[in-house]
Amino acid sequence: MTLTVQPHREAVGLKTGQLYLDGQWGPGTGSGTWTHRHPASGEEIGEFAIATAADVDAAVASARDAFESGTWSNSRASTRVAVLHRYADLLREHAEELRGLQALDNSVPLSFSSTIYATSVGAAADVFDHHAGWVDKLGGETLAPYQGGDHLAMTFREPIGVVAAILPWNAPFLLFAQKVAPALAAGCTIVLKPSEYCTFTVLRMAELLAEAGLPAGTLNVVTGPGDPVGEALITHPGVDKVSFTGSRAVGRHIVEASAGTLKRVSLELGGKSPALVFADAPNVALAAATVVGAVTMGLSGQACVANTRALVHRDVYDEFLGAAQGMAQAMTYGDPFDPGVTASPLINEKQLTRVLGYIEKGKSEGARLVFGGERLGGDLENGNFVGPTIFADVDNNATIAQEEIFGPVLAVVPFSDEEEAVRMANDTEYGLGAGVFSADVQRAFRVSRKLRAGTIGVNGFQVEPHLPFGGFKQSGLGREGGKSSIEAYTELKSVFLPLTDEMM
Ligand code: NAD
Repeated sequence: MTLTVQPHREAVGLKTGQLYLDGQWGPGTGSGTWTHRHPASGEEIGEFAIATAADVDAAVASARDAFESGTWSNSRASTRVAVLHRYADLLREHAEELRGLQALDNSVPLSFSSTIYATSVGAAADVFDHHAGWVDKLGGETLAPYQGGDHLAMTFREPIGVVAAILPWNAPFLLFAQKVAPALAAGCTIVLKPSEYCTFTVLRMAELLAEAGLPAGTLNVVTGPGDPVGEALITHPGVDKVSFTGSRAVGRHIVEASAGTLKRVSLELGGKSPALVFADAPNVALAAATVVGAVTMGLSGQACVANTRALVHRDVYDEFLGAAQGMAQAMTYGDPFDPGVTASPLINEKQLTRVLGYIEKGKSEGARLVFGGERLGGDLENGNFVGPTIFADVDNNATIAQEEIFGPVLAVVPFSDEEEAVRMANDTEYGLGAGVFSADVQRAFRVSRKLRAGTIGVNGFQVEPHLPFGGFKQSGLGREGGKSSIEAYTELKSVFLPLTDEMM
């Protein structure tokens, strides 16, 4: 029988999506709606409003008024801390509901969202708890007079103002938190745009934030596709900062589009992250399972930081390939609410066509297909399913070793020594993450220092709410997570104050 998710739709209780402007939910000024089709079944799941330019104006005006009035940024620190902690608690209380909504949005299986920390509601809650701690600790410096004499030189950290936060579809819990928590902790106000492929989850997250006590206007939500809704935000003169997570192509466009008003921009973009598996890896089979898991399990490789290039020492190459295929075989596909299902479909037909195109490219450029490489049919024929795909003997310059595919495709590249491995690892336009598998501590740190990437996992990787995350090179601008993240939502102001009339 062909897969259907309709019974879950009724059980989760999906509502029609509306805009959230100035503390009120409503349809906005337009008549346009977006119909969300489920990636696993192709069924219509629900509709939400497409915000008009007037709606975006209203959202920005509301955020500006809220910012200028200081209802949030000038309220007692203990009030702001309490709201952020209360929200973290609400997220945890509503975790099951949110996971269900996400499964209806992007078809990430419950088996994954309930067990893998980085994509869990609990991680998002931890990010809010962490940032609540920064609310009353952000400060500047008082410096001794450089030129001598009697004066004070000081710095203050001021909230940057109105932030346009634009989200991708793949990890709504964490990515909502990574933007909204530091922006609020810094005292900013926000206009948020979720991805059109993952809207219902984010609307509920916004609703819970209001329930936690966030004042009206502090967070506004406009829904709809990148063009026109995102476009109206990134060019809006009332927006002070664009905080974007998504593809490199849109990131580049944001840099160009925001140039007219010199907005502050932070970008979390794509990657082609390598895993370097040395002959002295503590457990080659576990390394292979970790790499293949990241490229297939849960999001089916639609994860920015997945190690989609495995650079493997020739001495353990065959062992790695064998274990990699064993892990790939374990993936199961279907209804995301079924606890036995471990991996998702691709998000939409465009991505399905793109991934299948890369698989053909891999074959035509001479890589050896050792596993998968096909769209899944049968009961799954109406979904965008592609099974785990492993290419061996890939040239590091091949298209599938250089471009972000955003699908369950692993390129395995052999190497002979450490120098060659590091050179190939860095031979990419991206620099988001990397993995190093070695039992030799000196090698692990030596190689980690040489890799041009923002996050390195040594014999494993986990997201930490207080650890900066972001990219070198074309993987982004700035960092999310921890102190550097909250500082990115502030402007630094210097104040000079003579203490006598002599310096005036
Ligand atoms: P995308 O770039 O297609 O869309 C991201 C967001 O940008 C969506 O909300 C979309 O509507 C919006 N958008 C599209 N065109 C726009 C425009 N002209 N102006 C303003 N906004 C516009 O990306 P996606 O398919 O949603 O997500 C996948 C990409 O995100 C991958 O490249 C992945 O690597 C990256 N990603 C990066 C991180 C990270 O932390 N570095 C995390 C998750 C995903």
